[in-house]
Amino acid sequence: MIERYDLHCHSTASDGALTPAEVVQRAAEFGVTALALTDHDTTAGLAEAQQQADSVGLHLIPGIELSCNWQNKCLHVVGLGIDPSYAPLANATHLLQSTRLERAEKIAFKLEQKRIPGAMLAVKKAAGEGMITRSHFADFLLSQNHVSTQQEAFDRYLAKGKSAYVSTTWAELEVAINWITESGGVAVLAHPMRYKLTANWMNRLLTAFKEAGGQGIEVITSRMNPDELRRVADFAKRFDLAGSVGSDFHNPANPWVELGRLPALPTHIKPVWELLN
Ligand SMILES: [Zn+2]
Ligand SMILES: [Zn+2]
Repeated sequence: MIERYDLHCHSTASDGALTPAEVVQRAAEFGVTALALTDHDTTAGLAEAQQQADSVGLHLIPGIELSCNWQNKCLHVVGLGIDPSYAPLANATHLLQSTRLERAEKIAFKLEQKRIPGAMLAVKKAAGEGMITRSHFADFLLSQNHVSTQQEAFDRYLAKGKSAYVSTTWAELEVAINWITESGGVAVLAHPMRYKLTANWMNRLLTAFKEAGGQGIEVITSRMNPDELRRVADFAKRFDLAGSVGSDFHNPANPWVELGRLPALPTHIKPVWELLN
């Protein structure tokens, strides 16, 4: 059987709109046969996702998406095939939860200073058991009519350099990659085009990423144009990185990003799933 892969998506365990079980169910409905649930800095959704995967006969790959710092930039590294019970990784996700909570409190405080009260209560309620992310703040600003789209919330308040931005110290790139690889996983650079790096910076990043033990790069993500795809495929080839395929699905209300609705990995790229056992 030919597998259909989607190796990057989110549930309510982080900032997704669907529960882990609902994400798996939807993936199966959209023809995905091998899915990695990769919530931000948490593996809390994996057990529920696995249960649902067993019942619908879908192959679930345990994953995570770690935020990390490198050269003053915030990058995302996806870990595929990780062992969530590996102690250093489990401890790290625990710590990252308090980092996120502290950041959320600082963002809420900054919004209050801009005469936008009530953010903390709202995002806590929206996140429930899951992690608070900036998307929750964007939703709050949208619901209170301070902005008219999620993107505007980032552009006006939440993005780097804006009035409610809070710089956060995540793990260093090398450390995050170590947590992944030492737990038996494969480290994949997530959505490489989203960082808006020059070719020069991209070369530096991929050199550092490889040196730290990174093995893959998302060659296929949602909303990529053919030129971007070509550029990422070139980087994958040049740095001998395996190619991953991931939608970064968050919410069924977004018509542009759907589970499994992705172009095929170019045939000259080594697929990342060959590295997963
Ligand atoms: Zn990401
Ligand atoms: Zn993501």
